Amino acid sequence: MPTLNLKKFEFRQKVLAENDRVAAALRETFEERGVASFNLVSSPGSGKTSLLEHTLRELGDELNMALVAGDVQTDNDANRLIAAGGKRVRPIVTGGACHLEAHMVGTAMEEIDLDGVDIMFIENVGNLVCPSSYDLGEHLKIALISTTEGDDKPLKYPGIFRRSSVMVINKTDLAQYSNFSIERVRENALSINPGLRIFEVSCQTGEGLDAWYDWLRGVVAGSESLASMAVEEAR
Ligand code: MG
Ligand code: ZN
Repeated sequence: MPTLNLKKFEFRQKVLAENDRVAAALRETFEERGVASFNLVSSPGSGKTSLLEHTLRELGDELNMALVAGDVQTDNDANRLIAAGGKRVRPIVTGGACHLEAHMVGTAMEEIDLDGVDIMFIENVGNLVCPSSYDLGEHLKIALISTTEGDDKPLKYPGIFRRSSVMVINKTDLAQYSNFSIERVRENALSINPGLRIFEVSCQTGEGLDAWYDWLRGVVAGSESLASMAVEEAR
């Protein structure tokens, strides 16, 4: 059995190395085209698509955004983003895979015209585990967590919180109805990654979204440096 495990390990290393190679090429494309790219990661139901819908509605006239939406089955999320005004949206249906890989993003991007695009959002499949191992060519990973989850999630899934530069706490309006403590989740996340930039938002009431929009404006205007926010260990 140990031989088999070693084979499995070697195969996994090979897959990751190939993924890194494709991701590096994607990142080069983003760099050349002046596109800021973000990989959104969370559990299912934390509000990745909701956050992107709000962002499209609020900033759609101001910033040129391209989006790829990963899902295990259905292109429902991509359709929601198109309904919210997204003009450059492509679905990635993984057909069972629980995370996106760089080649999937590359294939979806072949159908997106990057001319004039300011920001590329990559909505990963809802999962906090393996997406942390797959570089998608993004500049930064953004981890979402909502107040209907446990506030100890950063401790349970440290990998993704360590490799993310931004954490968005969503559903702040519901915190009063649960045992979730915003203060505690901040402490837990910062104990894993002291450099995390944290936003507290409610996609239901709109509370806190202005700070998120302002940050995105700053990224595009160049007043927010992605390089200084990049996590060393991310790749
Ligand atoms: Mg979604
Ligand atoms: Zn996976």
